[in-house]
Amino acid sequence: MEDVYIARAGAHGIKRNTEHKLRALCEAAGLSSAVSENDLTAVKVHFGERGNDAFVNPMHVASVAAEVQTIGAKPFVTDTNTLYVGGRRNAADNLETAAKHGFTWPVLSCPVLIADGLKGTNFREVEVYGKHFEHVKVASDIVSADSMVVISHFKGHEVAGFGGALKNLGMGYAASEGKREQHTTRPLLLPEKCITCGACINACPEFCISIEGPSIAIDTDRCIGCLMCMNTCPQHAIDLDWQDDGVVFVEWMIEYAAGAVANKTGKVFYINFLTNITPHCDCTPWNDTPFVPDIGILASRDPVALDKACYDLVNNAEGVHGTLLPDHHHAGEEKFTRVWPGTNPELQFTIAEEMGLGRREYRLKEI
Ligand code: SF4
Ligand code: SF4
Repeated sequence: MEDVYIARAGAHGIKRNTEHKLRALCEAAGLSSAVSENDLTAVKVHFGERGNDAFVNPMHVASVAAEVQTIGAKPFVTDTNTLYVGGRRNAADNLETAAKHGFTWPVLSCPVLIADGLKGTNFREVEVYGKHFEHVKVASDIVSADSMVVISHFKGHEVAGFGGALKNLGMGYAASEGKREQHTTRPLLLPEKCITCGACINACPEFCISIEGPSIAIDTDRCIGCLMCMNTCPQHAIDLDWQDDGVVFVEWMIEYAAGAVANKTGKVFYINFLTNITPHCDCTPWNDTPFVPDIGILASRDPVALDKACYDLVNNAEGVHGTLLPDHHHAGEEKFTRVWPGTNPELQFTIAEEMGLGRREYRLKEI
């Protein structure tokens, strides 16, 4: 059973501000056991797509980087390039977005770099020997780092059910080519529901949707499987083949997560922000109303136990009415499959345990 530490949301004094909470979490959960003096430490975050402001506040990332510096290590804040056209497809755009979102030296007091290079082609093949991949393509500077602090915003995800530390490892550490390997899912059109409103056409980064007759057509040769169209459609006329695509997506993602930490046994520390718990991933260029209130910040050395604790805390919270959560508002009712029908959030824990990433049993400790 793994220890997961939580600093609850809310504060009634300076000792409970976020900086103090993060310091206490780093101490209690053992940051200094994962990070050593003189390490080059990758502090992995999600900069947030342009238009999204639900990502972890860079001031809080700065507090964690300062803890790394206190140990005598050298932190650098990092993320990778995206597959889709947006504000983060290459390092030039990505760094510009990072700066606009506050991830700059004056805020962080440490460098910011894009771990898979200018065009997402800097990766190393890492052996995983999973069900689908023998090797995965992990961003070079992640593999080169001596230790890692993985800072994740825990929220919903349209295919995986939720996104937390495991998704940050799996999708977030993959170089662009690795993300392409994980996005071979394709949208499934339900033409009888389509009202040809055009929202998906405007959302598609690859311009591969057009109106044809009473519905739309998707050019699957050009489609990159980003599912922005599914996220956007107000009629739920775009879906996935959940039996196959949903399961395989999670399997690919977790195999990539195993690759991200393959050369760092005992050298990774995880922090999840269970705040601003939005339905969508921070890759969407917007963020909807949180469907449960803020819960707190959690830290652990085990990403599986950490994500499971966050998953349980969300389900045990009271849901917020008037959000994407249509029912199951009572504490104790499962929420993610109500926000994203068809997903199987628990699958992440099962596959992560099979891949040796950690264990889902946890002991929650308050700080
Ligand atoms: S967003 Fe949905 S309803 Fe609108 S055109 Fe696309 S598939 Fe049809
Ligand atoms: S998944 Fe949808 S939005 Fe993304 S590229 Fe394919 S058609 Fe376009």
